[in-house]
Amino acid sequence: MKFDSDVIVVGSGIAGLYFANKLADLREDLKITVISKNSWKDSNSIHAQGGIAVVTDLKKDSIKDHIHDTIKSGGGLSDPNVVKMVIQNGPKRLKELMGFGVDFTKNENGQLDLVLEGGHSTKRVVHSNDHTGLDIITALRSYSQRKKNITFYENQQCIELLKADDGSVKGIQTLNKIKNRIDFFKGKVVVMATGGSGQVYKYTTNLRESAISMERILQYFNAYPFFKLAFAFSNSALAFSISAFAFNISSLAFNIS
Ligand SMILES: Cc1cc2nc3c(=O)[nH]c(=O)nc-3n(C[C@H](O)[C@H](O)[C@H](O)COP(=O)(O)OP(=O)(O)OC[C@H]3O[C@@H](n4cnc5c(N)ncnc54)[C@H](O)[C@@H]3O)c2cc1C
Repeated sequence: MKFDSDVIVVGSGIAGLYFANKLADLREDLKITVISKNSWKDSNSIHAQGGIAVVTDLKKDSIKDHIHDTIKSGGGLSDPNVVKMVIQNGPKRLKELMGFGVDFTKNENGQLDLVLEGGHSTKRVVHSNDHTGLDIITALRSYSQRKKNITFYENQQCIELLKADDGSVKGIQTLNKIKNRIDFFKGKVVVMATGGSGQVYKYTTNLRESAISMERILQYFNAYPFFKLAFAFSNSALAFSISAFAFNISSLAFNIS
């Protein structure tokens, strides 16, 4: 089947939902489609427990200290401009998350409960009990369900990015895992919010599931000559197909929790 929208967001983790909500608020005229390969809540995001490092208590903490701790923990490999940009924007992004309904844990004084994590010289990690990711996703999803211009499609695995003549991506091809068929989503913009690239490694802390069984892959491989095997396993392969490139991959983080 064919579906039309203005913006297609592939992925319903924190990145995809946050982006869709923010865009839906800014541009009510745009039709936004959010696609996920399994259930909407099946993501790495829901497994994040610890929390978010952000400067909230300006009496005991500062942006300068957070930048200093981060550069030090990065062993001199971090790009100082990126560190600065992320840390300076942290407080604003946190407020936005709270605006979307995320209820972070408070202490007995009603202030955000801050905890200390590795690499930080002071308590600055906000959390929602010990299931921060799940609570963020639940709040973001509930917000997006109230937006008339966001539509969700689940069990739709993106298997190809569709390029227009000028080389820009104007849609995606998906494997509809319920109806057992190939679907097409057309859009003016495609946003890939498909998470990390753990699947290209032998060991990963990301969810280890290819989402499609090998039997199913081969069945589609035979039925549809355009079906590219690598794309079924890795979104990095999808990105490379449109000439995206990766750098500093030796610095990828693997979660130790
Ligand atoms: C165990 C664990 C603990 C963590 N703890 C913390 C923490 O304490 N603090 C912290 O900041 N970070 C933590 N992280 C990291 C953090 O969870 C991730 O960086 C973040 O959630 C990534 O969000 P995302 O939206 O980019 O990706 P994801 O949450 O992985 O979402 C990706 C989405 O894309 C969809 N998708 C993928 N491929 C396709 C496709 N081909 N077609 C359609 N849909 C597709 C998936 O179904 C999913 O909906 C932790 C991670 C793990 C695994």
